[in-house]
Amino acid sequence: MTHESKDKPGQPSISRFRQSIGSRSEFTITFELVPSRGGRNRQTDRTLALARDLAADGRIQAVSITDNAGGHPALSPEVLGLEIMAMGLDVISHFSCKDKNRNEMESQLFGWDRRGLHNLLVISGDYPQQGYRGHPKPVFDLDSVHVTDMLNLMNKGQYLHQPTHATSFFKGVAVSPFKLTEAEQLMQYYKLHRKIAAGADYVITQLGFDARKFHEVLLYMRQHQLNVPLLGSVFIPSLPLVDIMHRGGVPGCVIPDTLHGEMKKEGRDADKGRKARLTRAAKLMAALQAMGYDGAHIGGPGLDMADFDFLLTAMEHYQSRTKEISHELSFWPDGGFYLYRKDRKTGLNLEERKNIGQGYAKLRPVYTVARFVHDTAFDPASPVYNACRQSCLTVHDSFLARPFAAFEHMTKFLLFDCQNCGGCILASLAYLCPQSGCAKYMLNGPCGGSRDGWCEVYPGKKRCIYVKTYERLAAAGGAEHFRSGFGPPRNWQLNNSSAWLNFYLGNDNRGGKRDK
Ligand code: SF4
Repeated sequence: MTHESKDKPGQPSISRFRQSIGSRSEFTITFELVPSRGGRNRQTDRTLALARDLAADGRIQAVSITDNAGGHPALSPEVLGLEIMAMGLDVISHFSCKDKNRNEMESQLFGWDRRGLHNLLVISGDYPQQGYRGHPKPVFDLDSVHVTDMLNLMNKGQYLHQPTHATSFFKGVAVSPFKLTEAEQLMQYYKLHRKIAAGADYVITQLGFDARKFHEVLLYMRQHQLNVPLLGSVFIPSLPLVDIMHRGGVPGCVIPDTLHGEMKKEGRDADKGRKARLTRAAKLMAALQAMGYDGAHIGGPGLDMADFDFLLTAMEHYQSRTKEISHELSFWPDGGFYLYRKDRKTGLNLEERKNIGQGYAKLRPVYTVARFVHDTAFDPASPVYNACRQSCLTVHDSFLARPFAAFEHMTKFLLFDCQNCGGCILASLAYLCPQSGCAKYMLNGPCGGSRDGWCEVYPGKKRCIYVKTYERLAAAGGAEHFRSGFGPPRNWQLNNSSAWLNFYLGNDNRGGKRDK
């Protein structure tokens, strides 16, 4: 809840959530609300009634409100957000990239700033699903790294090179430690570096059930000085949802066979296993607090105040038993990827990392040739760079410009399925084109939806472009440098123009600077 700050009029007072997570002394607890479709219905009334109870209860610091969760159209987060803030409960608004372009984002954000909706969770978002008369256009004009960077500029009052009123957004981002393969997992962590470099203030994990995986991302952030607060997502699925998640029906969410079996057995209880699932969640919250998380982000359909009371009371009860609990909360598929060696004593991780980047297939000729051409023609340090640049600029002003652009597009289309965006970033993605190879046009690393290396949108059919990027970079000597890049957003003014010419003219979004 943010009101006018008494000592700085016109400035919003610090929100309870921000104070709590910033203090890093209080174990911050938040709860996720999922608005339903339509504005006036019993589901919305139930959600508001629960928020009212939570506000009166006072044990949680904020509720988060999703933005068209699962890609399904629903009431926009700011609508419920303002009503819930008026109840005296703080709000985190999810802000996704799937349905709006950068200009709609900007106008929405300046509006939210005026209305005091400052706590955000910036995510790419699940792929859009059925809407009015069919499937909508998947927008993804920006990705979560771009949006975090944009918010950072807004907060500095340096937005678009003109003095704007400095906003005060508190920028949260997501990371998934629950990836089954090395490539998926490391690319998630490398993208986290980019999100934090872009200005993220705190991190919330994807939901999961394995204590050692939760510990892995905490350890990774410590080892790499990614010093922002971390909340762990603790989810209490309903029984039907357990089956859907087990068969991969919820993007990015993994329920392994062992846990599925346990939950199905518990499902035979009189309460269909509800108490057992709440107990497991309470144990996980206690384990997260013991391992050093800054808080827990609770989620799950149909939870009521009685469930909350049970959860938070049980968590206190288990705080004295976290040593054995970490062993108990071991729910990861056999053969699933872990980055660190196991600590047999705690059931969590040792500081020692496993060998990564080994055993990837030999580099494909298309990669080696493309890299050679790129390093020769587009690297200012190359002996022929100036000659290439000069001949290109000469072509630019001649009648050869159009056939030259057509030759470029045709060559790159045959080799890389080029979409002629005019601002080529092939070199930073191991010569894989995100405009054709990624359903969400991600330019700074993977979304959270891949599973077993398969794309969220084409499971079993198309492999995630960032899994392929990792494998190529690993085979070429290492992918770690991916964590320090920034893939600028596509500039649609360059659409259907020569990227080679735009590079030499400094027209593309990198200002003619070479990709690393
Ligand atoms: S290719 Fe990868 S990053 Fe792109 S949508 Fe699919 S899973 Fe997400």
